Amino acid sequence: MKKTSFFIAFLAIAALIIVTSCSENPSVSADEVQASEVKALSLIIDDDGNLAGDLTDEEVASLQFMIEEEKVARDVYLEMFDVHDLRVFDNVSKSEQRHMDAVLFLIDGYNVVNPASDERGVFVNPDLQSLYDTLVEQGRAGIEEALKVGALIEETDIVDLNNWLEKVENANVEIVYANLLKGSTNHLRAFVRNLASLGITYEPQVMDADAYDAIIGQ
Ligand code: ZN
Ligand code: ZN
Repeated sequence: MKKTSFFIAFLAIAALIIVTSCSENPSVSADEVQASEVKALSLIIDDDGNLAGDLTDEEVASLQFMIEEEKVARDVYLEMFDVHDLRVFDNVSKSEQRHMDAVLFLIDGYNVVNPASDERGVFVNPDLQSLYDTLVEQGRAGIEEALKVGALIEETDIVDLNNWLEKVENANVEIVYANLLKGSTNHLRAFVRNLASLGITYEPQVMDADAYDAIIGQ
């Protein structure tokens, strides 16, 4: 009896080792992830299969800033969904995760140091840390405040992405930022629409009126 259970345990461990070693095969999964991201974002790769071009110091700095700014958005929305249980925050936080993944793909692909913490609500950039802290506190006050916080984050994101787009020249960075910008305008519309359904007209806090109206269409 003891021998049988020892044998079963041995089989279980052997099976575990086989399963683990299969899932750790790096070439298959990494290539598949790379191929799908490159395709999804229409990124440009060179003849060696790497992301094309080099990055300037400013482009490196922009990626390190944007990964954390996208994380501010994701983490605030996760917090707002926990507090208010409003679906828009669940949907948009998932989209922000994809934005983070896209920036991270460039960070990894160009061997840039990733400053972003794995911990929710924790940021290396002190300005983004205090932005996060302030917005979470504001958004906790109620659903209206939370939706306004969402719109403010998207406005900030749009302004920052437009500024970076004027400075960066690497085509892949431009492609990803243009993609993020499109997402941000959709998110801004979603928050403004949710506020409108509560009878509240959102007034832009960061963008100038013309740029805001061009997105919201008023
Ligand atoms: Zn985003
Ligand atoms: Zn967004």
